[in-house]
Amino acid sequence: MRGLFRDVKTELWRSYHWQIQNRIKTKEELKRYIRLTPEEEEGIDKTYSLYPMAITPYYLSLIDPEDPQDPIRLQAVPRAVEVDEKVQALGEPDPFKEEGSIPGLTHRYPDRVLFTLTTFCAVYCRHCMRKRIFQEGERARTKEEIDRFVEYLKSREEVREVLLSGGEPLSVSNEKLNYVLSKIREVSHVEVIRIGTRLPVLAPQRFFDDELLGILERHSPIWINTHFNHPREITEESAEAVERLLRHGVPVNNQTVLLKGVNDNPEVVLKLMRELLRIKVRPVYLFHCDPVKGAVHFRTSLEKGLEIMEYLRGKISGMGIPTYAVDLPGGKGKVPVSPNYIVKREGQTYLFRSPLDGFVEYTICDAEAP
Ligand code: SF4
Repeated sequence: MRGLFRDVKTELWRSYHWQIQNRIKTKEELKRYIRLTPEEEEGIDKTYSLYPMAITPYYLSLIDPEDPQDPIRLQAVPRAVEVDEKVQALGEPDPFKEEGSIPGLTHRYPDRVLFTLTTFCAVYCRHCMRKRIFQEGERARTKEEIDRFVEYLKSREEVREVLLSGGEPLSVSNEKLNYVLSKIREVSHVEVIRIGTRLPVLAPQRFFDDELLGILERHSPIWINTHFNHPREITEESAEAVERLLRHGVPVNNQTVLLKGVNDNPEVVLKLMRELLRIKVRPVYLFHCDPVKGAVHFRTSLEKGLEIMEYLRGKISGMGIPTYAVDLPGGKGKVPVSPNYIVKREGQTYLFRSPLDGFVEYTICDAEAP
C-alpha cells in the first residue's frame, strides 16, 4: 500500500506526527513522487497564496502516479481551474452563511450547534466546502475562544447536540481536545457530541493513539462523521482506524460528496458503499457538491446524483444507501432528493415503479387510510 514510501520504517509510517511533519506542501516536493502535468504545475503556482496545498505521505501513497485523472489526485493536487475567473465568479466563499458573531460558532438548527475548532487540515481537499478557511493560516481556537463558545452553549437550553468541525478538529492536541470535550460535558442539556473529521481518510494513524481513543470514550456519547469519497480510500489503515474507534464505543458515519471526475459514476459509488459497510461505517449522506468559490468545477448535474441513487436501489441493502441531499444556500437547511417511485395515484391506490422490474399497484385499505 505504501508504494512511493516503501522505504519508510513502519513505526514512522504509523505515526500521525510523522505523517503531519512530512506533508508535501510544495511543487518541488511533489515532483519527487509524481510526474506533474502542466495543468497541475500551473495550478500549484497559481493557487499557492489563495488555496495552499498540503498532502500527507499516506494520502499521496494512494495516488496512481501514472494517472493524471486519478480520483485521489483530483482531490489533493491543485489545478489552475480553481482560480479561473469564470469558476471563481460562480461560487461563494460562505454559501451557507456559517460565519456568525462568535468566532467558529454556527447555530442554524435550534437543537444543534457547529463549532470549528481549528483551520488546520492534514490535507487541503480541493473540493472543500470551507475552502475560505485555507486563507486563514493554520490556527486552533484558543482556550478563551472555547470558553466563549461554551458560555453561549450554557445560555441556549434548546441545544442537545454539538458538532465539532474544522478544519480538522482532531488535529488539535489531546490536551486541548480533552479540554473542549470536558467543558461541553459540563453543559447538562448537551446530550450528543459529533465530530466531523476526515482523518480516517487522510491520516488514519491519528487513531492508533490510545490516549486519543481514551479521551473519546470518556466523553461518550461521541459520534464520528467522516468523509470517504472513493473506494480506493478504504485501506487496511483506514479500516484499522474505524475498528479502534468502534472498540472504544465511537460509531462512525460517512458523508460522501458527489464530485465530477472522482465518483460521479454509479459503479464507483456502489463499490464505495459496499466497502464502507464492510469496514462497519454507515453511509449516511451523499451530498450534492456545494457552490463554493474555487470548487464549482467539481459540481455535477442533479440528474447524475439521481441516476446514482436509482442504480443503488436493489443492489445493496437499505443500510448501504445514503440519503442524497442538497444543502440549500443561505443556511436554509439540507433537503433530501430522491428518485420518484410513485407513478400514479387513484384514491387510495398507488402505482409504484419497482426498483427491480416493472410496475406494482398498492392499495391502502380503508382502516389504514387517513
Ligand atoms: S479535511 Fe475537511 S475541512 Fe479539511 S480541507 Fe478536507 S474537506 Fe475541508
